Amino acid sequence: MSLSDCEICWGTPCSCGWEWKTYTTDCLRRNIEMFNLVIRFKEENPNAIFSPTWKIGVPRTEDDKKFLDYMNKCFFKKEKNGRT
Ligand SMILES: [Zn+2]
Repeated sequence: MSLSDCEICWGTPCSCGWEWKTYTTDCLRRNIEMFNLVIRFKEENPNAIFSPTWKIGVPRTEDDKKFLDYMNKCFFKKEKNGRT
């Protein structure tokens, strides 16, 4: 991965659509679902505090753990249960 994902808009992730053109529609739908869950978490936890990075040695916050638990429960388990 380079400094920027998209050579057109330079966004990381791409915000103009160019970098998404080769993804399958299933993959794009999973990404939409993932983003909807992230939005829901953020709306339900507007004051969440996240650690600035996931690097080793940086302490995790309670909201980091809460977020990952939420995503595991809502998204990744659904993925395992038959979605491709
Ligand atoms: Zn782009």
